[in-house]
Amino acid sequence: MSAAATAPLIFNAIPVFADIEEDYFCLDPKAIETRITSKTRAIIVVDLFGLPYAEEINLIAKKHGLLVIEDTAQAPGATLNGKAAGTLGDMGVYSLNYHKHIHSGEGGVIVADNEELAEKCRLVRNHAEAVVEAKEGTVKEKLCS
Ligand SMILES: *Cc1c(COP(=O)(O)O)cnc(C)c1O
Repeated sequence: MSAAATAPLIFNAIPVFADIEEDYFCLDPKAIETRITSKTRAIIVVDLFGLPYAEEINLIAKKHGLLVIEDTAQAPGATLNGKAAGTLGDMGVYSLNYHKHIHSGEGGVIVADNEELAEKCRLVRNHAEAVVEAKEGTVKEKLCS
């Protein structure tokens, strides 16, 4: 889906493609490592047709110090080894556009089990214009305390 490929461009990152595997059409773990360079920051995996990505990709990411961003737009409700799709990587992204199983016209949901990543998402969502909570040492904290 074009959104998964073009999202990095918004942040001046260059997407590098790797092939899919033929049984599930998700990213092929065997195709990833030759594509990783010193500039690689994350692996974007797309859960497709209700099937989560291969978990061994997490091991590859860990080995190279990369984040796994899971595009769960086509697999909300899917599970792998008892874990919900969208929670398998470092962050999961769900689409709520009109064509999805759960829709609100437009919009989406990001889940992250990491407060720093979650905060970055809250800032990006809000054009980085406001910190959601007063942070220690910030102007907002000084003004609000
Ligand atoms: C629909 C879809 C998206 C993008 O959804 P938007 O909310 O319209 O940006 C991204 N990835 C996949 C796999 C999708 O199916």
